[in-house]
Amino acid sequence: MSEVISIANQKGGVGKTTTAVNLAASLAEKGKKVLLLDIDPQSNATTSLGFSRGDYEFNIYHVLIGTKKLSEVLLETSIKNLKLAPSNIGLVGIEKEFYNPKKKNRELVLKEKLKEVSKKFDFVIIDSPPALGPITINALSASDSVIIPIQCEFFALEGLAQLLNTVSLLKKTINPKLKIKGFLPTMFSGQNNLSKQVLADLSHHFKDKLFHMKKNSKECIVVPRNVKIAESPSFGKPVTTYASSSKGSVAYRDLATVIARG
Ligand code: ATP
Ligand code: MG
Repeated sequence: MSEVISIANQKGGVGKTTTAVNLAASLAEKGKKVLLLDIDPQSNATTSLGFSRGDYEFNIYHVLIGTKKLSEVLLETSIKNLKLAPSNIGLVGIEKEFYNPKKKNRELVLKEKLKEVSKKFDFVIIDSPPALGPITINALSASDSVIIPIQCEFFALEGLAQLLNTVSLLKKTINPKLKIKGFLPTMFSGQNNLSKQVLADLSHHFKDKLFHMKKNSKECIVVPRNVKIAESPSFGKPVTTYASSSKGSVAYRDLATVIARG
């Protein structure tokens, strides 16, 4: 059975896609069999791995509406052990389908579809859109846990209560096993006092929910603001292959080490 992890935060531009792509790539690099599932109509995870629209006919939309099986839309990536379930802007149409209150178990559609491939992968990493709508609810309902990237900037923690409420509501209702795997500070800049303040606030409020390479260590895993991370999507590669020894790669490999050891 695969472990399913959603990367979620309804705030836009906080590093969800970057985290999904690079965590998935780093786990694959460790020899884990990984499925990266792009469930954001913006399709940034799909593009980040070098695919453009003309490269694939079917995507996760077709899986969710039931015209294709998940196994039928999977793409091989340039990274060994990493497969991609691509998205497409057409996925916005699913919101309408999922909002239909007459549709039974509409929160559980993705979970059902994942069953088909669950034995084939060690990890399924889901990149979700910047909203707490039906798509993200489907992602969280299908997941064992969620990683919440937090951008080390002003307003970082704004809206977090709403996300945490959603997680706890899902836990009480349709997905009792859902856990918060942890918070991942992203785009941290050592020269920036604001960045340091956000990190201090996170450590204060969620100390046990930050990622640590060594148990009981004070140092938590922090993704630095790193130009190689920003450049890599335009080369269609994760930073871990685009600039393998960059600070950004090191941070995402560390995260994968912690996730892989369970
Ligand atoms: P959305 O909410 O739109 O889906 P997102 O949360 O998925 O956004 P990303 O797309 O991962 O966020 O990141 C936003 C932008 O910041 C991208 O251009 C990305 O390349 C850049 N970025 C992400 N992390 C870093 C980093 N650590 N250093 C530098 N740039 C980064
Ligand atoms: Mg994104």
